[in-house]
Amino acid sequence: MSYFAGITELPPDPLFGLKARYVADSRTDKVDLGIGAYRDNNGKPWILPAVKLAEAKLVSSPDYNHEYLSISGFEPFLKQASKVILGENSAALAENRVVSQQSLSGTGALHVAGVLLKEFYTGEKTVYLSKPTWANHNQIFTSIGFKVASYPYWDNDTKSLDLKGFLSTIRTAPAGSIFLLHACAHNPTGLDPSQDEWKQVLKELEAKKHLVLFDSAYQGFASGDLDKDAYAIRYAIDQKVISTPIIICQSFAKNVGMYGERVGAIHVIPSTQKDEQLGRALKSQLNRIIRSEISNPPAYGAKIVSTILNDRALRQQWEADLVTMSSRIHKMRLKLKELLTNLHTPGTWDHIVNQTGMFSFTGLSPDMVARLEKVHGIYLVSSGRASVAGLNDGNVEKVANAIDEVVR
Ligand code: PMP
Repeated sequence: MSYFAGITELPPDPLFGLKARYVADSRTDKVDLGIGAYRDNNGKPWILPAVKLAEAKLVSSPDYNHEYLSISGFEPFLKQASKVILGENSAALAENRVVSQQSLSGTGALHVAGVLLKEFYTGEKTVYLSKPTWANHNQIFTSIGFKVASYPYWDNDTKSLDLKGFLSTIRTAPAGSIFLLHACAHNPTGLDPSQDEWKQVLKELEAKKHLVLFDSAYQGFASGDLDKDAYAIRYAIDQKVISTPIIICQSFAKNVGMYGERVGAIHVIPSTQKDEQLGRALKSQLNRIIRSEISNPPAYGAKIVSTILNDRALRQQWEADLVTMSSRIHKMRLKLKELLTNLHTPGTWDHIVNQTGMFSFTGLSPDMVARLEKVHGIYLVSSGRASVAGLNDGNVEKVANAIDEVVR
């Protein structure tokens, strides 16, 4: 008799499976454009100077220890994290309308948001995801028991935003549905709505009283500026454009480069009016969810981020580090486009420079991507999404020549 009836083996996770093939490849000039993790111009992981300084400061502090955090997380971190995303002068923060909880990075925040909504949300329990979206979004919500639907986002013909389709789905979705929005640096397309487009999107979301769930995994990566990259979130909240609850899932994996330390937070803004009782109830339920799942969040990464955010010089260093990362990526976009243009590679390549953040949705077909891997040792996901952070002065020409070869 089987004690695990119906169990089947799943294929490897597409992204981590790709990584394993890359690692096993013995070609010395192989190129990893898969996982969205920043690499320096030598193709190496980069510990941000701000993080190095914060680590030194933290471990030399007499208060440094490895005690448990509280269930809510590290309060000095949470307080500053909410200001990073909502702004120093956020009225919602000043009015004490924000309920914050530390999470296991962005994924953990999305999961906690899902569990909270599954249990208590009285609206339509369907989560609308952009088409395409980060592959994990789907399974994060379906594994909690949500229905998942999609809204048009990427127009493959024009390689631009399908605003018409996006707005039309917002209008036709059952009122009170849940809409997950990428706050900036959309993964996988690298395509963000303009400020004017955001205004239209948020207006329509409000008209149908949909619940807005912002996923902010790349703040600072799109423009190099934390404030600019929080535009949509702050517009929705500061202007009180959205009257339904807003949930923000905030990751510090990419913008502090602490991928494996799992630093993140969930911020719930339940109402445009202050409701202390509701705030306290939400806080207690978030605590219960965290306590039952992970007891309390991990301390180290949160303490590093808190050290950076609570020290003026370290904060300035971090902001400079964000510019270093985002501008190097932008430089690589320009270089790749220039090389493809010079090679007269069939097709248009302007989208590579128009896109923003870590990724470029290249428009390469799955067959072309497979050939890049097999013949050239260049690894990207079959959708044609390339992590531009994997490009550097030493490999960009090889990549351009290989793209030229597979496209022809
Ligand atoms: N949302 C998006 C859109 C992402 O791309 C990622 C990471 N790839 C995450 C959330 C979560 O990342 P993490 O759990 O590492 O913070």
